[in-house]
Amino acid sequence: MLPPKKHVVNNETLPIKWKKRVKSDSGDDCLGVVDDESNHMWIRKEQAPIEECDTLIHELMHIFWHTGTFRLPDDMEESTCRNFAPKFVRHIQDNPEFWEYISEKIRHAYSSGTSKPRTSTPASEALSVSATSGTEKKKPQS
Ligand SMILES: [Zn+2]
Repeated sequence: MLPPKKHVVNNETLPIKWKKRVKSDSGDDCLGVVDDESNHMWIRKEQAPIEECDTLIHELMHIFWHTGTFRLPDDMEESTCRNFAPKFVRHIQDNPEFWEYISEKIRHAYSSGTSKPRTSTPASEALSVSATSGTEKKKPQS
């Protein structure tokens, strides 16, 4: 299977560029990076398969962060992506039937035209976390 060259997030088609070397904002070599503004993704070629999956999910989480309504302090973005991406990969690895079931259900729902994906939580209902207390609270309605 060829690596994907694009993906769709919130009805927007975003490119995935595969490069021999990928540099972070600070100029360091890295496995993947997402532009904060455009959400374009660059992924280092020739990673081990599990590493590559982890990198793709990690970078996708950054995009969800940038396009979503879930709010956390900015310094938590990288640590959240680093924490959850490997767990997600591991879950897929350990539960192939679970993911095949979900994938099949989604394919069927789209092909039959009977179902639409849920939309994101409206910003007025987004959760935020206080940087100091770490407690979850509902964002005030505007
Ligand atoms: Zn990251």
